Amino acid sequence: MLIIGSHVNFGSNQLVGAVNRALSYGANTFMFYTGAPQNTIRKKLEPAYINEAKKLMQEGGINLENVICHAPYIVNLANKEKEEAWHFSINFLKQEIQRVEELGVKYLVLHPGNALKIERDVALNNISEALNAIINEDSKVMILLETMAGKGTECGKTTEEIKTIMDGVLLQDKVGVCLDTCHLNDAGYDINEFDEYLKEFASIIGIDKIKCVHINDSKNGLGSHKDRHANLGYGTIGFTNLVKVVYHELLKDVPKILETPWLGDYPPYKFEIAMLKDKTFNPNLEADVKEFYKNERNF
Ligand code: FE
Ligand code: FE
Ligand code: ZN
Repeated sequence: MLIIGSHVNFGSNQLVGAVNRALSYGANTFMFYTGAPQNTIRKKLEPAYINEAKKLMQEGGINLENVICHAPYIVNLANKEKEEAWHFSINFLKQEIQRVEELGVKYLVLHPGNALKIERDVALNNISEALNAIINEDSKVMILLETMAGKGTECGKTTEEIKTIMDGVLLQDKVGVCLDTCHLNDAGYDINEFDEYLKEFASIIGIDKIKCVHINDSKNGLGSHKDRHANLGYGTIGFTNLVKVVYHELLKDVPKILETPWLGDYPPYKFEIAMLKDKTFNPNLEADVKEFYKNERNF
C-alpha cells in the first residue's frame, strides 16, 4: 500500500492538530516539527494530546510507525568553530529525541549541517562526532540524514558524503537516510535516471537504510544547488518522474512525504496526494485548491 502524506503544522493542540490535518488531506502518514522549523523554542508535550492523537490515528488508518518528525533546520552539527553553538545543537537534539520518543515516533529527519568556512572532511567528521554524542543505545529513535541540494556549504549533497558521516557513527542501527527528490535534482542527480541513482545508492550505503522519501518538484534545473521546492509536475523534475519514485518497487514500504509550497494561503496536499493516488497530473491544481479552501477555516 502507498504510504503517503505531507508536512503538517503542529498546532496549539500539538499532535492532535497534525493528525487531523493529515487525515483531511487523505494521507495515511505525515511529517511534523515539534515547534517552528526555524527556531528551537519548544513547549512541553501534553500527554492528553498524545493519547487523543493516537486514538485519531488508529481510527483514521495512520500507522505511527510511518510518522516522521523533522528537526529544526537551524541546528548545525558540522561546524565547531563556535563550540558553544555546536554543543547547543547537540543538547537540543538530545531533548528533541526525548520528545519524539514520548510521542512514540520512530524517525527524526535531520539536515546534516553546513561546513561554513571549514574543510568538508572536518565538517563531515564533526557531524559523526556530534551524532555519537546525541545517540545512545537505549534510544528508540532513528536519525535520518537528509540528502541535500548543496546550497552554500551544505553537507550531504552526495551519497558518498552521507556514507562518510554514517561510517563515523558508532551505533549504526540508529542512523538512516531520507531522500529528497528536489534536493537530489538540485545536487545534480537526474531523476530521469532514478534507477541508476538507486543502484549506486545500494552499492554505497544500502537501500534498507532509506526510511523516508520527500517528494517535491524543483523550481530549478539539474545541479543548480538552489533548494526551492515546486508543486508536483510544476517543476523541472516532472510529474511522471515523481510518480516513478513514489511507486518504485524498492521503496514501496517507505513513507513518502510532500513538502511542496502552499498555494496562496492554502495547503496543496489534499490535491497533490489525489494526483499521486490517481497517477494523473492536475493542470488546475491552484484553482482547485483555492476553490476548495475558500470557505474552510481549518487546514
Ligand atoms: Fe528537510
Ligand atoms: Fe526535504
Ligand atoms: Zn528542501
